[in-house]
Amino acid sequence: MTIATRELERVVREIADEMSARPDRGEVAGYIPELARVDRNAFGLVVVDDAGNVAAAGDCDVPFSIQSISKVFTLTLALGKAGDRLWQRVGREPSGSPFNSIVQLEYERGRPRNPFINAGAIAVTDLILSGHQPRELLGEIVRFMQFLSDDDSIGIDEAVAASEQRSGFRNAALANYMKSFGMLENPIDYTLGVYFHHCAIAMSCRQLAMAGRFLAHLGRHPTTGLSVVQPERARRINAVMLMCGHYDGSGEFAYRVGLPAKSGVGGGILAIAPGKASIAVWSPGLDANGNSYLGRVALEALTKRMGWSVFGA
Ligand code: GLN
Repeated sequence: MTIATRELERVVREIADEMSARPDRGEVAGYIPELARVDRNAFGLVVVDDAGNVAAAGDCDVPFSIQSISKVFTLTLALGKAGDRLWQRVGREPSGSPFNSIVQLEYERGRPRNPFINAGAIAVTDLILSGHQPRELLGEIVRFMQFLSDDDSIGIDEAVAASEQRSGFRNAALANYMKSFGMLENPIDYTLGVYFHHCAIAMSCRQLAMAGRFLAHLGRHPTTGLSVVQPERARRINAVMLMCGHYDGSGEFAYRVGLPAKSGVGGGILAIAPGKASIAVWSPGLDANGNSYLGRVALEALTKRMGWSVFGA
């Protein structure tokens, strides 16, 4: 083991210890009943570096609901299917609004600001659904996650999917509104069904950090050497993550952490240090914007100690 690897392991363990001692942890997502039951004290952190070394601490092997982090992977699939045509359906500007907001949709005629707010992710799901049955597409998404993570055990938490399906009134409103502008091709129930299920994929920090490696390494899957996306596309997905990955908390996240990243209301964050590392953190308590509260604090400490911010030390 190199000195640098030992140093990284020390930093990761140190941060996990610091986080477990913090009383301020945010609030778990209450609007999806199944997520409201998750232990607020859980904390996991995993870093996979450019040499494939894994530094892990805390609840790093406990699966959690990846929720909106799945949107990075459906965006990747959508760009593979439609290329730049995708941007006719969805923009790539920060929204400055909450993740489930409907306000911009009216004056922007059903074209969501970006692929990471709920409306945008539903539009992306609709695009990749065309030409497939919902079940077939979900199989494809899960297999994609399994391939990227080198782990066939990844699956969907059906209880979370059913819980969101029962309580997803806002998402139904967003989908209906977009449909009224002719922006969705498939039956709303099908598109939403796939959306709720891909949000309900359960992964551990270890699996998630492995899945993010291609974004840290110019689009390559390090285990097989296969190109998941071209380098230019990896760079662009990272750009959208940096600008839009934390909704109306994206500016604050860039200011404090300085990495492309995507959060989910399950309390996970996937962050990419280009050329250096793929990082996953999980702490279920959220801040007012619906982003993991301690997840951000932990990433701020990590980038500072490792000098990994894309904006310099
Ligand atoms: N499935 C969640 C929703 O649609 C995803 C939101 C999130 O993780 N920010 O509300």
